[in-house]
Amino acid sequence: MEYFIDVIIPVPLNKLYTYRITASESEFLKPGMRVAVPFGKSKVYSGIVFRVHNDAPSAYEAKDIQQILDDTPIVNEKQLQLWQWIAKYYMCTLGDVMRAALPSAFILESETVITKNSVKEFDESILKDDEFLVFEALHHQSSLKIHDISNILDKKNVLPVIKRLIDKEAISVEEEVYEKYKPKLVRYVKLHANFSSEQSLQNLLDELSRAKKQRDVVMTLFSISAKTKKPVKVKDLSDESGASVSIIKALVDKGVLEEYHIQTDRVQYTGDDNESTKNLNDYQKAALSEIKMSFETQHTTLLHGVTSSGKTEVYVKLIEDVLSEGKQVLYLLPEIALTTQLVTRLQNYFGEQVAVFHSKYSVHERVEVWNKVLHNSAKAKIVLGARSSIFLPFNNLGLIIVDEEHEQSFKQFDPAPRYHARDTAVVLAHMHQAKTLLGSATPSLESYFNAKQNKYGFVEITKRYNDVLMPDVELVDVKDKLKKKRMKGHFSDRLVEEMTETLKAGHQIILFQNRRGFSPIVECKTCGHSPQCPNCDVSLTYHQYRNQLRCHYCGYNSAMMQDCEACGSQDLDNKGFGTEQIEEEVKLLFPDYKVARMDLDTTRGKYGYEKIITALEQQEIDILVGTQMLTKGLDFRNVKLVGIMNADNMLNFPDFRAHERSFQLMLQVSGRAGRTEERGKVLIQTYNPHHNILQQVSTNNYIDMFNEQMNDRYNYKYPPVFKQIKITLKHKDYNRVETASVWYAKSLRQVFRDQVLGPESPPVARIRNQFHKNILVKIPKQQSLAKTKEAIIRINNSFQSVKGFRPVRVILNVDNF
Ligand code: ADP
Ligand code: ZN
Ligand code: ZN
Repeated sequence: MEYFIDVIIPVPLNKLYTYRITASESEFLKPGMRVAVPFGKSKVYSGIVFRVHNDAPSAYEAKDIQQILDDTPIVNEKQLQLWQWIAKYYMCTLGDVMRAALPSAFILESETVITKNSVKEFDESILKDDEFLVFEALHHQSSLKIHDISNILDKKNVLPVIKRLIDKEAISVEEEVYEKYKPKLVRYVKLHANFSSEQSLQNLLDELSRAKKQRDVVMTLFSISAKTKKPVKVKDLSDESGASVSIIKALVDKGVLEEYHIQTDRVQYTGDDNESTKNLNDYQKAALSEIKMSFETQHTTLLHGVTSSGKTEVYVKLIEDVLSEGKQVLYLLPEIALTTQLVTRLQNYFGEQVAVFHSKYSVHERVEVWNKVLHNSAKAKIVLGARSSIFLPFNNLGLIIVDEEHEQSFKQFDPAPRYHARDTAVVLAHMHQAKTLLGSATPSLESYFNAKQNKYGFVEITKRYNDVLMPDVELVDVKDKLKKKRMKGHFSDRLVEEMTETLKAGHQIILFQNRRGFSPIVECKTCGHSPQCPNCDVSLTYHQYRNQLRCHYCGYNSAMMQDCEACGSQDLDNKGFGTEQIEEEVKLLFPDYKVARMDLDTTRGKYGYEKIITALEQQEIDILVGTQMLTKGLDFRNVKLVGIMNADNMLNFPDFRAHERSFQLMLQVSGRAGRTEERGKVLIQTYNPHHNILQQVSTNNYIDMFNEQMNDRYNYKYPPVFKQIKITLKHKDYNRVETASVWYAKSLRQVFRDQVLGPESPPVARIRNQFHKNILVKIPKQQSLAKTKEAIIRINNSFQSVKGFRPVRVILNVDNF
C-alpha cells in the first residue's frame, strides 16, 4: 500500500499537489497540519495537508515531503470546509484562500537554521536521547538545517524535538525562518532574595544611605509594590523614581536588585471586567426578545436600529448568553482601527475574554490570537475583528455579530479571495450551527431585501437611547449661496453661523468631506492643462502639506510645480477640494479653536486613529475634519454639529451603488451629532437640494430610499435582484486587452446572451500602466449560480489557451463592489 497527501500550497494553482508519505507518517498526519514540501526545481513551501489517501497521482510522479511541521493541526476541519466554500463561491484557488487565511508567520518559505545556544553553560544531563544527538551534532557544526536534523534522527517529524530543545534553551533558531513569532519580553525588577529578612534589608538601607539615588530607587520599588501588588517593570520604576535605567542597572550589578522576565501577551488586557452590563430599556428589551425568537427559526437576523439606539448593548446581552453556554463569539467590524471605543466597552464588560484581531497588528500578535482561538482559550471567547477574522480557527462558535453590516470594506477587493466577510460569516455560522446577527442603522439593500424575502429574520429599533431626537438636518443650496455671495471659500453663511454658535456653547463639530488632499485637480488657467499621473489615467491630487502632487491610485508623487508643464504660465488653479483645504479654511475662519484632520494621510501608523479619537473624546479638538472614517460607529458625547461639505461628488460617483452609499454615509455621519440630551444639527451643502437621496436623508427615511433604489435595481438588473460577476482584464498594451476582452465577452454572450454587459473601460481606464476592461455577467435568481460559474470557468480556460491572451490578467469578482 502506498500513502499520499494532497497539500494546499500558498500559490494560485487550481489543483492540489499530491506528495508521497510513509505508512507511519500517514498515521501521524492529519488534515490541517503543515508540511514542508519541495515545489518546482528548488522551492520549498509550507503547505497544509488537505487529505491523506492511497491514490497515486496519474499525471506525475509524487515527490516526498520534506518535513512535518506540526504535532497537531493548526487549521481545523471546519476551516478547511470554509476555505473550500470560499474558493468555490468566489472563484479562486485554495492556495489563494490559504494565503489570506493564515498569519504569514505560519507560512515558512525557506529553511530553518539552528544553532547552539552559546551564551550559557549547559547541563547536558537534562537532554533526552534524541535531543542530545542534535545538541552533540552542534559541537561539530556551527549550524544545522532542519533536513540535517532529519538525517541525524532519521525521521521527518523533527519539529517537536526542536521545540523541546528551544524550551530547554539548548539551541536557538533564526527566528525569521523558524517562526516569525516571538513572545515579547518585558523586564521586571525585584529586590534580591538576599534581602528578604528584615535585618538584611535594614543593613542594606543603611549601606545605601550614602548613595541617595540608589536608596530612592529601592524605596520607590517598595512603594510601587505595596500599591499595585504586582510585579514592577523596570520602566515603571525608572519613571516613578526619576532614576535612569543605568542607576537601576548598577543596583542589579551590585546584587541589590534582581532583573527577570515574564512572558506576556502582546495584546494584553490588564484591567478587569469591572462593569456590569447595562439594563436595557423597553425598546432594547423588545428587540432582544424578538431577536431570540427569530433565531428559533432563522439562522440569520437583521437588526435595523437607528444610530445611537443602543444596538451594542443588545449585542452584549446576546454575547452573555452565548458565553454562558461555553461557546465562542465573533464580533465583526468593518475597520478594526476605528474600534478603540468599542474594545474598551467590551473589555469593561467581559475583561480578558475579549481578543482583538487587528489589521495593524504585527505577525506576532496575529499568531497569538490565532493560537488562543485554536485552543479555545478563555482569553479569546469573544473575538473582535475586521473581515479577516472569519479565518480564525474557531471550533465552537455560538454567535457571529456583523456590526455596520452595510459597510463595503467587508468585501475584499484585491487580491483573491475577493470574499465578502458578511456573507462568508453567514456560511461560517452555518457550519458551526451558530447564529448570525447583522446590525446597522442603514442596512445594505442586500440584507434588507433578504429580510423582506424572509430569508433573514428582521428586528427594528426606531428610537434613540434616552429618547434623544434624531438630528435636525438642514440642506444648504450652494448654488443659491454663491449667487447671493454668501459663501466664504467652501463654507456657506449658514454653516459658519451654526459653527460659531456651537463653538460658543462649548460643543464640538465634525466636518465631512469625502476626499483627502487639498484639491483633486490642478488646472492651468491659461491653457487648461492639468497634471496627470504618468502611470494612471487620473489627475494628480495636490497635497499642500507636503507641497506634492500625488496619485491616489498608484502612490506616484512629485513636487508641486511652480508653473504649467505645458505652457509655462504661473496662473494655476485648484479645482474641487479635499480635507486639507477644508482644514485650512477652518483654521482661518476660527483661529481660536483647535482643528484636526482625520483621513488616510493622518492616520498611518498603528495608533494613528487612536490618537485623534482620544483627543476628540478629551475635547482637545474643537473641530474635526475628515473623510468617511468619521462615519464608523464613533460615539462622541459632545459633538453637536455635523457639516457635510459637499454631498454632490458622492451622489455623482459612477457606480450603481452610489446613491445607496451616499445615503448610508450621510446618515451615519449625521448620527455622530447630538448623542446626548440635546438635539444635534446637521448641515448638508449641495448644488442639488432636491435630490431624492438628500430628501430621504433629511427625513431619515430608509424605506423610501430602499423602495426607490430597489426600483432601479429591478429595472437595470442589478444586485440584489440579480447576482453579478465582474470580469476585469488587464494588460499594459491597450490593443491587446481590447481584443482579448472583445473575445471574452463574445464567448460569454454565446452562453448568457444579453445578460452580458461590456467590455467597457472603467472611469479610470489605466492604473499602474495597466489598461483595464470590465465585463459584467448578470445572473437572474432562477439561474443556477454554480452552473454559471462552471460555464465562466470553461470560457476562462479556453481564453487561457489562446497564446496571445495568456499574458492578459483576468480577475473574477463575484458579487463585486
Ligand atoms: P448604536 O450602536 O445603536 O449606535 P450604542 O450602543 O453606541 O448605539 O448606544 C448609544 C449610547 O447610548 C452609548 O453611549 C451607550 O452607552 C448608551 N446606551 C445604550 N443603551 C443603554 C442602556 N441600556 N443603558 C445605558 N446606556 C445605554
Ligand atoms: Zn498651461
Ligand atoms: Zn497613478
